[in-house]
Amino acid sequence: EKEESRSSSTIKKPTKAKNKIDLNEEITLKSSKPLLSAIVIGHVDSGKSTTIGRLLYDLGIVDSRSLHKLTKDAELAGKGSFSLAWIMDQTPEERSRGVTIDIVQTQFETSNMRFAIIDSPGHRDYIPQMINGITQADVAIVIIDSTSDLIFEASSAVGKNGDFSVRDIAKGQTFEQLKIAKNLGIENVLLVINKMDVNDWDEDRFISIENVLKDHLTNELGFQLQNLNFLPASGFNGDNIFNDSKLCPWYNGPTLFQYMEIMNTQTNENSHITLSNQSKDQFVLTVTDLTLGSGIESGSIVSTSKKSDTVTIHGRVNSGYLQPGESVNFWPSNESGQVDTISTVITKVNNSKDNNNKVVEKVAIPGEFVEMKIRKVELIDALAIGDLVTKITKADDDFVKCSNQLVCELSMFSLNRPILIGTPFILFKGNVSYSAKLSAIEWVENKIENDDGSITLKKTKKRKHLSSNQRARVIIETEKLVPITESIVKLNRIVIRKEGLTVAAGLIKKTIIS
Ligand code: GDP
Repeated sequence: EKEESRSSSTIKKPTKAKNKIDLNEEITLKSSKPLLSAIVIGHVDSGKSTTIGRLLYDLGIVDSRSLHKLTKDAELAGKGSFSLAWIMDQTPEERSRGVTIDIVQTQFETSNMRFAIIDSPGHRDYIPQMINGITQADVAIVIIDSTSDLIFEASSAVGKNGDFSVRDIAKGQTFEQLKIAKNLGIENVLLVINKMDVNDWDEDRFISIENVLKDHLTNELGFQLQNLNFLPASGFNGDNIFNDSKLCPWYNGPTLFQYMEIMNTQTNENSHITLSNQSKDQFVLTVTDLTLGSGIESGSIVSTSKKSDTVTIHGRVNSGYLQPGESVNFWPSNESGQVDTISTVITKVNNSKDNNNKVVEKVAIPGEFVEMKIRKVELIDALAIGDLVTKITKADDDFVKCSNQLVCELSMFSLNRPILIGTPFILFKGNVSYSAKLSAIEWVENKIENDDGSITLKKTKKRKHLSSNQRARVIIETEKLVPITESIVKLNRIVIRKEGLTVAAGLIKKTIIS
């Protein structure tokens, strides 16, 4: 009832920016270097953290003293070889487990570029965190353990002469991750064939792994061959990470770091942003973190006697631009506030957490991870991680729709048993998961193989269940309201999981407002 009285009494008006900027000016942030956001995925123990740790060390971002201290800590814990990995796995809890348990986002910059690296846990239990990470990434770096038959799930997948069967690969965890990534819109993938030192840099092994991966990623997962790159490396020794490998004369391609520069250039090629061409797009940001009060420095504790009306949010700008002074709306709560400050944060990778470089900005633009202080928020408790934030303008009436009935198109994964109408599951959208259920099936589409080997697609209406590898158009009902912007496709991608398994991925096509 509190909410009702508020929405009827509040008239939301756009407010003016404190320092209006020239619409024809090319936007340059203080940290104006192009940003590439990459998620690192791969099987547990494939060497994700080691490889990224090595890269940061070779770049001079982590100094040898921090590395030395980490090495000593690791030795004390009896796990010397994990020292590089520990740079990324920051909390003591994570160290004692030796498994990355949450998403760690590290930003660093070189003389002309910026990078955000999202380290994701490879363990199957942490697929939700990986989904969250993928939604913040432009490209994926996949670490493959070249020594392990585990990437092919079972050693039986490896034939006598070292051939791998594509069908068996499909069962591997790395492939589930890649399938999710593809369905969430990742197109560019760098595959690092790691631990090549253990195989004495055997070129044949590299080529056979590359061929199997190419085949599967293009044929089964739908990646374009020209968007896949393969690199033999040793994350542990630093071969082909930042420096070329002397041990691998048969490979003359780019190093991991050179590939990251190439991907940054490609990703940012056509994005010389000017305010005039951005001004048509609505401002949308997804909240990835939220602190009550005016900032992390002043602590997040709000005294009960004098409740703060300020909130600090973190998020990635999806589209449009925003300036301090302007007003914003939060969805689905429909709460509003006014932007006080905007800043970008470069995380110095180090042992200490207070090594962040905060830069105050005049404007937030697409692709940036920003921190914003927002004032005049009445119902702070109504805000949550995963909210969409839009700019209040004269014309934004129903730009965001909130609904718990979603019309979705899905690609079904391999299922243990069919999914019936009424079946409960978890729907992942961006960094939020919702309790949901299948409430109707509009149609299903099956692939039928003809005698001549060609494929016909057959659509059937009025089905009562969904089966493996079908495409389907369905209505999903969620427990809570989901905020949707129909025009930004990337934000409408979803993954569906049930009993810890990924069963489908797809797209919200529209909402039903009852
Ligand atoms: P993650 O779970 O994918 O992050 O894997 P880690 O980075 O924790 O590495 C798992 C283990 O593999 C550790 O013992 C590493 O020292 C080892 N490792 C990682 N990369 C390499 C490599 O290139 N060569 C060798 N020989 N070992 C590696």
